[in-house]
Amino acid sequence: MNKVCKFGGSSVAGAEQFRQVRHIIESDSGRRIVVVSAAGKRSKDDNKLTDLLYLCHAHLTYGVPCNEILQTIAERLISIRDELGLKYDIETELDALRARMNRDMPVDELVSRGEYFTSRLMAEYLGYHFVDASQCIYFGYDGAIARDRTYAAINDAVRKYGKVVIPGFYGSLPSGKIKVMTRGGSDITGALAAAAIDANVYENWTDVSGILMADPRIVPDPKPIERITYAELREMAFMGATVLHEESVQPVREAGIPINIRNTNRPEDPGTLILDSIDDKGDSERFITGIAGRRNFTILTVSKRNMNTSLALRLSLELLDRYHVPVEHITLGLDSFALVASTAALGDNLYAIVADIKKDIQPDDVTLRDQIALVAAVGRKMTFRAGSSGRLFKALGEHGVNIRTIAQGADELSILIGVDNKNYETAVRVMYDGFAG
Ligand code: ASP
Repeated sequence: MNKVCKFGGSSVAGAEQFRQVRHIIESDSGRRIVVVSAAGKRSKDDNKLTDLLYLCHAHLTYGVPCNEILQTIAERLISIRDELGLKYDIETELDALRARMNRDMPVDELVSRGEYFTSRLMAEYLGYHFVDASQCIYFGYDGAIARDRTYAAINDAVRKYGKVVIPGFYGSLPSGKIKVMTRGGSDITGALAAAAIDANVYENWTDVSGILMADPRIVPDPKPIERITYAELREMAFMGATVLHEESVQPVREAGIPINIRNTNRPEDPGTLILDSIDDKGDSERFITGIAGRRNFTILTVSKRNMNTSLALRLSLELLDRYHVPVEHITLGLDSFALVASTAALGDNLYAIVADIKKDIQPDDVTLRDQIALVAAVGRKMTFRAGSSGRLFKALGEHGVNIRTIAQGADELSILIGVDNKNYETAVRVMYDGFAG
């Protein structure tokens, strides 16, 4: 078994978490490649190293001293080292970094140090070989990951050293300069490592026991999702569930490697398994996989009696495209259609858009309804169950939730409803209570 384990910021936030990581690594000899984020928050009021480093850079840009922030960073790293009895000479490295810190220091190089230092400590603590991401994660001239070169370098390192720790979140450009990924990018590093060595599983260790069926700020103690397909995950993420970095899914999905989201603080929990397809035959698992949603959409309804709907629709879509407004969802009637777009994306252009629609389409009426929330019930099994949408709408009606728009995703993976913002939380709760059990 070959497993790539990525540990997120909260899983490496302090010495106690490091102990937990070692326990996890030592309990399975397949866990030979470890990808590490920068130390994150130990408590709600704590800071992530990455945020502190970005803050340092902002100070440098404006010529404001940042010694105190750097001191906080140093203290955090030194406390981990000392509590674990490690030898790594952070002081010398921090001095060298401090000497280079001036207005011209590239931001990417500075913020990458969070992952670098945390991984150096982890490598020593686990007794694994440290492989710098600048030597195995490569970007091309276009800024995208150069996969072939990256995979070859990771394989070389694994062949040479057997057990390795790689810092997440950064790599190097063809010029040799460091480049960071977007926030949360360590997920991508983990996925690249898993695809490179054709791992049996990509374990993504975090601080929850998997992807939850609903937002825990709305539903108290929601159940974790046991198994989800990549396609369902995309729907959940699109509808606002924050799970993995979006770009991390592609490399492992293409290679057919499952992702297992696990809880560092509860390693006995199975977490969530993300797979390409799931054989549900004879399986009694619940038929909704998860519920996700977002607030603040606007429904723009255009009506015109006896119009050629397809032409009017095409013109409207072209128009919104000109204003760079993505359309999230469309419903069609005989003499009308409704477009749903994010209120923020419509922004100040809303009235110009309505004016253009009036000019180009000459409709009988255009109406706007804002303060709309979209809620999706995602589930690959909904298609097989007769009457699922009926049950859903009945439950919502019984709780006084007025449905403003409805759609079933074309791939029948989700049922999407639009409700007033004020009913958003009730809708999520009703859907969870009625279908998650
Ligand atoms: N440390 C980086 C961040 O805070 C990357 C990561 O954690 O994945 O975004």
